[in-house]
Amino acid sequence: MSLKGKKKRKHNRNLSDAALGDLLNKISYKCAWYGSVNHQIDQYAPTTKKCWNTLPDGTLCEYEWDKPIPTNVRTLKCPKCGAVLDRDVNAAKGILITAHREMDKTT
Ligand SMILES: [Zn+2]
Repeated sequence: MSLKGKKKRKHNRNLSDAALGDLLNKISYKCAWYGSVNHQIDQYAPTTKKCWNTLPDGTLCEYEWDKPIPTNVRTLKCPKCGAVLDRDVNAAKGILITAHREMDKTT
């Protein structure tokens, strides 16, 4: 990659970081406005690597894949509970559950 290409990539990364920072500021502002809780989970929490399926006994499966799952894999089959999971829905459940757990620890 040329020096020009590296500079352009760094510039684009700086722009996307700034855009994300701006979005987080706006979310924080709106949460304060409406009296909502704004909690950001640990960025390294394994939300996409775990099965968040609820088992018949009411507990969570929480099987954790040992390798990262490539982003082009959109549907997962859990080897422990057999659930077929949409990657994004499973990750969203993981983020929600992780946030509740982290907030329970701090309160
Ligand atoms: Zn499972």
